[in-house]
Amino acid sequence: MALSEFALIARYFAALGSSRADVVLGVGDDGAILAPPRDSELVAVVDTLVEGVHFPVGSPPASIGHRAFAVNLSDLAAMGAEPAWALLALTLPDAEEQWLAEFARAAGDIARQHGVALVGGDTTSGPLSITVQLLGFAPRGTSLRRSGAAVGDGLFVSGTPGDAAAGLAIEQGKLVLADELHAGMLRDRFLFPTPRCAIGRELLGIASSCIDVSDGLGGDLEKLCVASGCGAEIEVNSLPLSDALRAAVGEPQAIDYCLTGGDDYELLFTIPQERWAQFAAKVSAGLGPVTRIGTIVQGSGVGLARPRGVTQFSHSGFDHFAH
Ligand SMILES: [Mg+2]
Repeated sequence: MALSEFALIARYFAALGSSRADVVLGVGDDGAILAPPRDSELVAVVDTLVEGVHFPVGSPPASIGHRAFAVNLSDLAAMGAEPAWALLALTLPDAEEQWLAEFARAAGDIARQHGVALVGGDTTSGPLSITVQLLGFAPRGTSLRRSGAAVGDGLFVSGTPGDAAAGLAIEQGKLVLADELHAGMLRDRFLFPTPRCAIGRELLGIASSCIDVSDGLGGDLEKLCVASGCGAEIEVNSLPLSDALRAAVGEPQAIDYCLTGGDDYELLFTIPQERWAQFAAKVSAGLGPVTRIGTIVQGSGVGLARPRGVTQFSHSGFDHFAH
């Protein structure tokens, strides 16, 4: 590396993100000292992005910086936790300064947007790989889990799943669109996903279960069902398909993208009937883009309800080790 590890961290990452009063000691010592609020529980998540596995080789550095934080923020959102502190482990083939500047700017922007302070980091030389650990908190005993769904609960999803998978296909040249506006919108959904942190926190005390959609809506719903010991039925006609996705691939394939595409980072959650009014009030007050897509049912697995009948969803989500 042209820059020493210390100089690299000092130049690009020491001031990354927000400053927070609960950081007693940040970057620079052997460890960070953090003071979570009294009566809170700590929620810890970590995710690694490897070039060529989680993003195409040669992806824009701003997208990599954004996604490294967005995927972790999405996991905290699924727990209903408030993001607070981040640790970054960066493995770089070389310390190319333009690349680092763009990566750090985008990472810093999304960290600041969510009030996250970078409190530690490590850099090594090797094939491009980024690991971010995020720590957040929620009032003790309130964090959302995958395991609380019960028969009769309404099933909801945020945003328009499927867009990111189409965007990745466009990035990889596997999907070619004549409409540049639609192509740009779909690519952005892959390159710069929006973690639903505000929605997740509003669901505390209301949702009975929650998971973020990272491996495909159908497969992630299967995980929620296994954790909760129940089944789910999706009303296929109520799936929220974006106009861009519908126009890009047509309705039948848009449904496939929506159910099996990955990298959406939307929230999939369940609301018990007795809390529907409370939830509806949150939606009216501007909770964000959420759509009811089905119901939790007895049994196991995910059913797809169409006017001609119910079929079983069978495609398990994208498996990193199956390719
Ligand atoms: Mg997750």
